[in-house]
Amino acid sequence: MVAHLIPASSLFAPENCARLVIKIGSALLVDQQGNIRRDWLEAMAGDIAERRAAGQQVILVSSGAIALGARRLGLAKGGRASLEDAQAAAAVGQIALSQQWAELLEARGLIAAQILVTLDDLEDRRRYLNASATLDRLLELDVVPVINENDSVATAEIRFGDNDRLAARIGQAARASGVVLLSDIDGLYTANPKTDPDAKFVPIVSRIDAKIMAMADRGSGSGMGSGGMVSKLEAARIATRAGINLAIISGEHDEPLKRFKHSNIGTVFLASKAGSARKTWLVGRLTVKGSATIDAGAMRALERGSSLLPAGVTALTGRFERGDLIDIIDSHGEKIGQGLAEYDAQEAQLVMGKRSDTLAELLGYAPRAAFVHRDHLVLI
Ligand code: GLU
Repeated sequence: MVAHLIPASSLFAPENCARLVIKIGSALLVDQQGNIRRDWLEAMAGDIAERRAAGQQVILVSSGAIALGARRLGLAKGGRASLEDAQAAAAVGQIALSQQWAELLEARGLIAAQILVTLDDLEDRRRYLNASATLDRLLELDVVPVINENDSVATAEIRFGDNDRLAARIGQAARASGVVLLSDIDGLYTANPKTDPDAKFVPIVSRIDAKIMAMADRGSGSGMGSGGMVSKLEAARIATRAGINLAIISGEHDEPLKRFKHSNIGTVFLASKAGSARKTWLVGRLTVKGSATIDAGAMRALERGSSLLPAGVTALTGRFERGDLIDIIDSHGEKIGQGLAEYDAQEAQLVMGKRSDTLAELLGYAPRAAFVHRDHLVLI
């Protein structure tokens, strides 16, 4: 983290992004009674039209399906009392939400397109590349894609659950240069400002470390979405590692993008240098199946750019298959990277801690080149 006198918006100006992802949370779209906030949305559509007129490509990630559907169906707890309720509410709400966006953008001379994705669509490399190609084509055709999670088919285990991380993943798939999360809070504070009077605003974050993560409060402030600051920080982590700047700004006022430009109020997370496209996709994946703890020698080898060999692994968790994503943990218990396991969990138990020249005999077949090959490994 850095304390700055430089205005946040001079480090990341959404109006300078060729391709911009804007995420709009449920609490902004729908009021406490579950009605669409039509005036706010109209002003937002104006903000978007202005960006388009300035030559920018815009992708919207819009929440609100569950909140809207819950009201129509009269479901308790905003439709989030059970997975079945959320699925039904989303199916009813989504059709109304899409219609709103189509109408609002149409009124500004813009064509809207709807894409609903599941977590799996973006975790699978081939489907991820497909989604990326579809987004490219739509943007080339001057369309404004409106994205949401396909909540009606997502299961509890295989879902984003919040549109913050979805927006970051979409930013990555679309190779956007910026992601803006419009929220009911104006950015990150050192503690929850609603409960802690000493909480200080954090305008710029250049590295998302444990100290920054500790500032986040769990749970959604509005009680309507499922976001909260933790999922926003996780989104920032995915985006910045993919070389994309991300800002959290308040959407409580009309035309929030314009307001940010003039007021500078918001938290900007600065992009780190992106690795290869495949590696950034890998590190943005959310389905982690296990972990391997490594010793100090292996840690040094990884820092030099080597693969992780079985000899350096000291402990394993999880039931992973060959090719699954696992966390790599150092000897202090800190997660230091992620990579694809070359062995399944059972074989991994056998080869863990063993020297490479003893593996053929142990396994009964020629061993793999590494436990996690450096081409499939990303250090954080
Ligand atoms: N996808 C959910 C919806 O449309 C919202 C997820 C979130 O709260 O971020 O209702």
